[in-house]
Amino acid sequence: DLLVVGSANADLVIGVERRPAPGETVLGSDLATHPGGKGANQSVAAARLGARTALLARVGDDAHGRLLLASQRAAGADTVGVLVGGAPTGVALITVDPSGDNSIVVSPGANARLTPEDIRAAGSLLAASRVISTQLEIPIETVTEVVRTLPAATRFVLNPSPPAPVPSEVLAACDPLVVNEHEARYILGDDASATDSPADWARALLALGPRSVVITLGAEGALTADGDSSPVAVPSPKVDAVDTTGAGDAFTAALAWRLGLGDDLPTAAAYAARVGAASVTRRGAQESYPTSDEVEAEPEA
Ligand code: ADP
Repeated sequence: DLLVVGSANADLVIGVERRPAPGETVLGSDLATHPGGKGANQSVAAARLGARTALLARVGDDAHGRLLLASQRAAGADTVGVLVGGAPTGVALITVDPSGDNSIVVSPGANARLTPEDIRAAGSLLAASRVISTQLEIPIETVTEVVRTLPAATRFVLNPSPPAPVPSEVLAACDPLVVNEHEARYILGDDASATDSPADWARALLALGPRSVVITLGAEGALTADGDSSPVAVPSPKVDAVDTTGAGDAFTAALAWRLGLGDDLPTAAAYAARVGAASVTRRGAQESYPTSDEVEAEPEA
């Protein structure tokens, strides 16, 4: 029902007292290896909630690729669409210092080799999906091909992360475009500096062509907007946040799944906010994602 088209990375994490200067070597903690990448994260998040989910991605024929396939299967996601080979699996090399600040180098690897041709070859997977969710850790030509081959009955969701220029053809297909504050500011450029009001950003983003817009606002929840009515604020439950890694991916996955089930946009976003909030109460990305039982029940009206 939900198809995620996107990236899969191995996140290689080392704790350091401080970062090495050029030419210097420092010793760090034991290496921790986690399955990650925005596409793989979204697919795991949806599958853990109980969504029928497939991932269309590319990994290398290597140990990191096998780790990623295993984490998808453990969550219950369909991996028929995960292509293997062509380049090493994408990797994020992450150092974390004692203050919790990250420095990250990403090698896109196989993600950069997920091509428009791969999308065309996956026609039956696309046709079987009510919703297709995408991000920007794969080539923009590949995301554009998803839009061009989108079945008439299928809804298209984009989280433009990491921020990069999005062709108007892709923006026009988004229903919704899902952005955090940083991504909203990037897309709006100078238009964002005119105001600090998310409702104004939502209206300005809608003017760029998407059918609907969702802005995530961390602990503040989210804002939804479609052309028909004023933007709707959706609260997030109050939680003790320990690690926000991957919260946006969990939010977007839950949103896309609920929209595919027929929820209206504010209802789907309210559910997604509860999923995002649950994910920040635990460390890690995929490891932190809740099952539907763990998602806080709808607050009393
Ligand atoms: P991103 O991870 O892309 O920066 P956000 O920080 O906006 O995205 O988080 C996505 C969603 O996760 C939010 O809309 C909210 O529902 C939830 N969330 C994130 N941080 C918190 C928090 N501190 N408390 C409660 N919910 C949170």
